[in-house]
Amino acid sequence: MRQSRVALVAIAVAIPLGMLATVYTGGRPAGTIAAEHKVQVVASFYPLYDFSSHVAGGRADVTSLVPPGIEPHDWEPTLGDVTRVRSADMLVINGAGFEAWVDSIGAKKIVNTTEEIELEEYEEKEGDGHGHGVVNPHIWLDPVLAKHQVEAIRAALAQADPDNADYYSENAASYTAELDSLDALIRSELSSCDKSEFIAFHDAFGHFAERYGLKQHAIHGVSPEGEILPQRLQQVIELARSLGISVIYSEDLVDSRLAEVVAGEIPGGRVLVLSPIEGISSNERAAGIGYIEKMMENVANLKEGLGCA
Ligand SMILES: [Zn+2]
Repeated sequence: MRQSRVALVAIAVAIPLGMLATVYTGGRPAGTIAAEHKVQVVASFYPLYDFSSHVAGGRADVTSLVPPGIEPHDWEPTLGDVTRVRSADMLVINGAGFEAWVDSIGAKKIVNTTEEIELEEYEEKEGDGHGHGVVNPHIWLDPVLAKHQVEAIRAALAQADPDNADYYSENAASYTAELDSLDALIRSELSSCDKSEFIAFHDAFGHFAERYGLKQHAIHGVSPEGEILPQRLQQVIELARSLGISVIYSEDLVDSRLAEVVAGEIPGGRVLVLSPIEGISSNERAAGIGYIEKMMENVANLKEGLGCA
């Protein structure tokens, strides 16, 4: 790379400016200089980081805005984060309202990975009273919908860095094949179960449940944080008892003692993790654990809770 830059400088000195474009585009691909600067991608939180990294391979730099191990629901960007996003070529987001701060952060380009996905809206229960429909944002937990998110990332990278478009297409195709395998594995693992209903820690598994013919209940609403009233807890305990559920699910990034409380009140109750994969620890990341591996752990724990063969 250094050599080609030296060569170009030499050409620029030796020829009149008007000829430079001809020599430049004729001699080498127009992206040669741009290629020295890898496309800088900032992904909002973990699944977007993992999907973007798989598509980018080694040819674009991907970082995660929300640090590893931090719950992203109530996360707010710092001034440093704003600077980082503004200097990046693109900000990859989940969309569907998950990143409430996105409009004010000033990204050069926003890649909304769920923009093209048509999902059923439901009426917001406590909102501003306008009664507008909202979509549950936990779209990445359905591997079939996640493929659309991967495709949106591929298209954005190909547009920003056309010289590497084929490379990004290959990466996206191979990751999409992994998502297809995951989808097939989930279908087969959950094909013969005693139960079809489960109690998640927060309302993150609706799209997943719909995809696989299950029914999700949740202790918390759309975010895993905030107060749970005793009446709500009592409802969950009664629901678990009436469904004959013994496994209550907790999460990896939040204090999930509430799950223990519920489990303590039901026959044979115990707690397993059902991760919404909203962030993973640095240790997991270092061990090469990503979205696919976390989904497989989820499936193993769901099999126990649902009593699958
Ligand atoms: Zn969530």
